[in-house]
Amino acid sequence: MTEQSFDVIVVGAGLMGSAAARHLAEMGVKTALVGPAEPEVKAAHTGVFASHYDQARITRKIDARKNWSRFSQAAIKRYEEIEEKGGVSFFSAVGAIIAGPEVGDGSDFILNARRNAVTDGVAHEALRGAALAARFTDFAFPEGILALYEPSEAGWINPRAHVRAEIAAARSTGAYILCDEVVRITEEHGEARVVCAGGDVLAADKVVVACGAFSKSEGLLPDPIPTRVYARTIAFFELDAEEAARLAGMPSVVYLPPDLSADPYILPPVRYPDGKTYIKIGGDAVDRELGSVAEMIDWFRSGGDPSAGAAMADILTGLMPGLRYHSVSFDSCVTSFSPNGNPFIYPQSDCIIALTAGNGAGAKCADELGRLGALVATGGTIPADMYEGAFAP
Ligand SMILES: Cc1cc2nc3c(=O)[nH]c(=O)nc-3n(C[C@H](O)[C@H](O)[C@H](O)COP(=O)(O)OP(=O)(O)OC[C@H]3O[C@@H](n4cnc5c(N)ncnc54)[C@H](O)[C@@H]3O)c2cc1C
Repeated sequence: MTEQSFDVIVVGAGLMGSAAARHLAEMGVKTALVGPAEPEVKAAHTGVFASHYDQARITRKIDARKNWSRFSQAAIKRYEEIEEKGGVSFFSAVGAIIAGPEVGDGSDFILNARRNAVTDGVAHEALRGAALAARFTDFAFPEGILALYEPSEAGWINPRAHVRAEIAAARSTGAYILCDEVVRITEEHGEARVVCAGGDVLAADKVVVACGAFSKSEGLLPDPIPTRVYARTIAFFELDAEEAARLAGMPSVVYLPPDLSADPYILPPVRYPDGKTYIKIGGDAVDRELGSVAEMIDWFRSGGDPSAGAAMADILTGLMPGLRYHSVSFDSCVTSFSPNGNPFIYPQSDCIIALTAGNGAGAKCADELGRLGALVATGGTIPADMYEGAFAP
């Protein structure tokens, strides 16, 4: 057993935690980052899971939610720096489309997104009708849809590679990295102790809990965190080399259909570790809440809900009628939402800080959320001139 002391320990080496650790280390703070590696076989794994076990997450500056647009603007600005410092590239700047009905029910989505883009001067093209169809010939958007196309500094990130880059950069700045699951955090006389499954015990003045959905695990945070965790099924369309090459310039897409029946998002062709190339669609129509950590683990092991996956697949084939694919497969993941739509970044006690609730957009914004977590862990506050609302329950 080793026992070491730090200024700050970050628990959870995921998207937000790895970013927080890098920022802390670069601030000159004696930092440790503790979290397990991705399980090799999900179905057989009994420990914690994470929402970054994938090859692609959409990144874009335009968002209907002002804070989330601002978080991603700040994060995207630093992608190149993180790639360089970590020696790992993770960003594919293929562009992104955000689209939704321009009038009537649901129009808030795209109109708020446009307002935020205009206010912050985010470069984009507004397209509709024949101009939209001519510009993006692979998509059959119905009449009445307004699409905002971000041609640059948007597209997708590889979340695994993003985490690797942040960890490498944190390590090179002096952070201590421990690959283990934390089973308990205790606090006494102004000092916190972090107990790991392998027997290590680390001590620190502050502990940042950035365990994603698993921040709800007993023994980590002193107060239960009021995030709502939802089961998500994703559908993967396997493409052959010719179809992947044909769609090579495809942007990422976030789309609210006119019937508001689902919330789909689509990733362009991405090569996966199995050597195959897939287009991915997610954004289930039905929100199934997972009430306990045991349910989350079961869900991650399940591989998703085939009926939800089939519904997503229908949306994709409707939107991309010319898509040629071999097969469709499904997988499972979870998203964590806070009641007011902001991430939780706040001290729960003298020593323990919560950093979680990605609200479906935590990947694109991860480096900024990590920076804000580092700020709060070192006694700072979230800048009110940039971000609005509460970051605590
Ligand atoms: C299907 C799907 C698609 C998504 N698409 C997008 C998208 O396109 N764009 C976007 O911006 N966002 C997207 N998201 C959301 C994004 O992935 C999450 O917001 C993001 O992963 C949250 O980051 P996090 O660091 O809070 O949690 P995670 O990425 O889940 O990381 C948490 C970390 O904590 C660790 N951990 C857990 N318990 C413990 C413990 N006891 N001890 C130590 N470590 C622990 C885990 O191992 C993990 O590494 C998507 C999510 C899903 C599920």
